[in-house]
Amino acid sequence: MPELPEVETVRRGLAPVMEGNVIAKAQVNRPDLRWPFPENMAERLTGSRVLRLRRRSKYILVDLDSQETALIHLGMSGRMLVSGDPLGQFVHDHPLPEKHDHVVLHMETGARITFNDPRRFGAMDLFATDGAETHPLLASIGPEPLGNGFDESYLRGALAHRNTPMKSALLDQKTVAGLGNIYVCEALFRSKIHPTRPARRVSKDRISRLVPVIRDVLNEAIEAGGSSLRDFRQADGELGYFQHSFDVYGREGEPCRTPGCASTIRRIVQSGRSTFYCPTCQR
Ligand SMILES: [Zn+2]
Repeated sequence: MPELPEVETVRRGLAPVMEGNVIAKAQVNRPDLRWPFPENMAERLTGSRVLRLRRRSKYILVDLDSQETALIHLGMSGRMLVSGDPLGQFVHDHPLPEKHDHVVLHMETGARITFNDPRRFGAMDLFATDGAETHPLLASIGPEPLGNGFDESYLRGALAHRNTPMKSALLDQKTVAGLGNIYVCEALFRSKIHPTRPARRVSKDRISRLVPVIRDVLNEAIEAGGSSLRDFRQADGELGYFQHSFDVYGREGEPCRTPGCASTIRRIVQSGRSTFYCPTCQR
């Protein structure tokens, strides 16, 4: 499932192809993905110019000159393919249509953006740019982990009286926007916090350490995504998934990477999701 760094990578890949350019034709091949598409979505997208691409949590927001904003969510298996880009950044020819190509944006420049999603947990919506932050999917999510609103005093306050395990508290989108299973595991490892420790019982020092650690794990992954963009351009034009190595995620039974630690990484299940951690380093 794409997490925040993957979504940010997709946004950065799409921005040069879409920003400033007109959607000559929006082709919508089915009435819904996870939820029904908004009424007349194809007609409302067609002919509008893309002003800019933003990201909020794991949602890509496409601001249009029609004063509407399109929301794109990749869900579990959504992919964005770029083809025929005249700027030469994506050199591929247009691919043959595939079964799960649900929405295709034909840009006036000749570029084509294809939203393919075999499992259809993805979503698209379209609503007024003015007041976009009150959209039901966006209204209750917490501060962006890479934004100014996310700092030590905020996080201490958000966790102070919570009895839930740290892992769950950080996965809660009201605490911080867009953090998913992989990066929560990595951040807890680096800040030496045990994933099952109740949030209110984590020391102030460790909470303070967590803020820069969360930023670091995300920024490193975004950087890895950025370098993978060059490969996407040369390969098949697909955006969003890239190879990145993790310290604990997916490493059950393998040695802990902390110098001097002889433990192996453990896996437990919390709220139905795998948690990976070092039983010695994380307390
Ligand atoms: Zn360790």
